[in-house]
Amino acid sequence: MNLSIPLFSAKAANDGLDFRIPLDRVLESHWYIFGNEVEAFEHEFADYCGVSNCVSVASGSDALELGLRACGVVEGDKVFLAANAGFYGSAAVRSIGASPIYIDVDPDSLTISAEDIKTRLDVISPKAIIVTHLYGQVADINEIVELARKNKIAVIEDCAQSHGAILQGARAGSFGTIGCFSFYPTKNLGALGDGGAVVSNDTDVAARLRRLRQYGWSSKYRVDIPNGRNSRLDEMQAAILRMKLPFLDGWNKRRRRIAKTYNHAFAELPITCPAFQGEDYVAHLYVLRMENRDDFCGYLSQHEIATDIHYPVPDHLQNAYLRETNDVQLPVTEAVCKTVVSIPCFPGLTDKEIEKIISTVQNYFVMSKI
Ligand SMILES: *Cc1c(COP(=O)(O)O)cnc(C)c1O
Repeated sequence: MNLSIPLFSAKAANDGLDFRIPLDRVLESHWYIFGNEVEAFEHEFADYCGVSNCVSVASGSDALELGLRACGVVEGDKVFLAANAGFYGSAAVRSIGASPIYIDVDPDSLTISAEDIKTRLDVISPKAIIVTHLYGQVADINEIVELARKNKIAVIEDCAQSHGAILQGARAGSFGTIGCFSFYPTKNLGALGDGGAVVSNDTDVAARLRRLRQYGWSSKYRVDIPNGRNSRLDEMQAAILRMKLPFLDGWNKRRRRIAKTYNHAFAELPITCPAFQGEDYVAHLYVLRMENRDDFCGYLSQHEIATDIHYPVPDHLQNAYLRETNDVQLPVTEAVCKTVVSIPCFPGLTDKEIEKIISTVQNYFVMSKI
């Protein structure tokens, strides 16, 4: 079987959608920034997430940075976060001049450990906690929100990999002070370029975000809060996202079904599969853990199946900041970064491709035993 399989295909994932319809609507309106599409999308996405406010911005990274600022994080403040989530949260914290305090992750869910947060709260008072729902898996969010409430700490949910995930009837992004989303093209809800949003039930935080994303203006040319800049979702991207949003739950279901099929097929292999339970995992990435992953990736590559590592270097070991973080020790995080491997899992992956991936993975372990 000569079938080359990428880690993600925008062509396959967007199959059947005619983007000319929403784009024509914008072209005919001759209005490109802050118009009907952005306003409508913000309402529709807030409704979808089950919150009262949505403020769109230019990217997921901006959602995190402006979101932290809107929650009152300033230079010198401390922010708790995990170190295995691709440095996005760290970049936002650093851009403010705040200090990241790294917390280890739970060895099953690979999301920030509530237990470790609790221990560290005895000695450190952070201004905020960033909780990344990594790979599409909702973290231990109820417990973390409870700890944060007691200690008057803001909770920033990073939902850039978990659009639409549901825990006990509530969507990712609706638990914390704010939920931050990216609409980068490969995300579960992706635009045709960059985009992001912050959702919140806190109307004051949302009002500050509306100012921060437009130069700190309270009204035209009146700068009333510091550190504002330009960070906007445009009408074209908003129109695309409005077309795609009604399909999100169906796509997530398909992702989850692929992940379930893999888990079932790989149950007897000497690898660790994602420990998901149900709707609280939207399978943004399907991440295995194993020894000798380089051999595994090489074998899949020979059979034209793409793999990737999410993520190879934990935040506290990144070269750019090594001098500041060389006394940080995170045993679970460090072990996990050496063993994770992502294999293709996206809506649009065909049954034939899934079969090829499964048989190739199984064959690799048969071969590696001989
Ligand atoms: C993609 C991603 C981001 C960044 O989003 P951009 O839109 O690329 O800025 C932030 N956090 C996580 C967990 C992500 O996966």
